[in-house]
Amino acid sequence: MLRAALLRLSENKRLASWAMRNRLSRSVARRWVAGETLDDAFDAARVLNKAGFPVSLDLLGENVLDRDGAIRTADSYVAMFGRIATEKLDGNISLKLTQLGLDLDPELCESLLTRIAGAAAEHGNFLRIDMEGSLYTQRTVDLCKRVRAKTDAVGTVIQSYLHRSEQDVRDLIAAGCRIRLVKGAYKEPADIAFPAKADVDGNFVSLMKILLPSGIYHAIATHDPRMIDATKNFASANGIGKDKFEFQMLYGIRTDLQRKLIAEGYRLRVYIPFGSDWYPYFMRRLAERPANLTFFLRNLFR
Ligand SMILES: Cc1cc2nc3c(=O)[nH]c(=O)nc-3n(C[C@H](O)[C@H](O)[C@H](O)COP(=O)(O)OP(=O)(O)OC[C@H]3O[C@@H](n4cnc5c(N)ncnc54)[C@H](O)[C@@H]3O)c2cc1C
Repeated sequence: MLRAALLRLSENKRLASWAMRNRLSRSVARRWVAGETLDDAFDAARVLNKAGFPVSLDLLGENVLDRDGAIRTADSYVAMFGRIATEKLDGNISLKLTQLGLDLDPELCESLLTRIAGAAAEHGNFLRIDMEGSLYTQRTVDLCKRVRAKTDAVGTVIQSYLHRSEQDVRDLIAAGCRIRLVKGAYKEPADIAFPAKADVDGNFVSLMKILLPSGIYHAIATHDPRMIDATKNFASANGIGKDKFEFQMLYGIRTDLQRKLIAEGYRLRVYIPFGSDWYPYFMRRLAERPANLTFFLRNLFR
């Protein structure tokens, strides 16, 4: 119930504008957000690269509703690929299609996505399309497959809480797409998503077992030690090398586990969100773990 309430609040515009002005919420958000500028993100990325972690940069923002905003966002991503190459950062980029105007004009969104994927390909890099709420799942899968037909520099994300995900995984693998497997971060109705955590976890393991032997370089993105152990055990039992897939975790979460996996010789990419539009991302992180909310409230009332 708490998770559902926080996810509902993540869409509340008035609370967003209060939180983004409030000093305490800004400072708590800095636990999970590298900062508001691209320089902040690059500083965080360089520190992580030095410690052996590749990164994925995510300019926060979703549901852009004006053409100019979508085009400006695309320009920023194209420039980011250039800067990653110039500064020899070990990093790629993650973005959301609603940042590129998916809600506004699907054709504009597709052309911007194609342009950014082209920049990724030009620099020998990679673009990951994050998966948003279920309203966007089909369009995200379709767009990813269409752009993948032009370049292999693009891939997407599949959420194990959705009933449809096994079919999506099979379709995307058939199209040669690289997939990041996650549990899923949005509020979804029980007719399309597993309500029980045990089922979400069970499906995560089943999907991981389809992904790893596919011969495509996929990402297993979780902080859950049980999912990580299941992945390690399956890979080792099936002769799948540590260089044939990567783990991914979010900036500032389970850094102990991040270091442990690198020390064990696994690949671990850290997802670095940055930008001024951090409120929905911040609320989704609070929703994932009640202890995070307690920490936030304790500081608020202190
Ligand atoms: C790299 C990456 C990219 C992602 N991209 C997407 C995406 O495109 N679309 C999407 O819907 N979701 C995305 N997610 C979020 C994902 O769906 C989950 O909501 C999130 O990862 C929490 O699930 P979990 O697998 O870590 O397991 P959980 O069962 O939620 O957590 C397992 C354990 O991890 C730790 N943990 C988890 N979350 C937190 C937290 N916020 N703070 C502190 N500890 C925590 C706790 O120890 C917890 O017990 C992404 C996650 C990662 C790691």
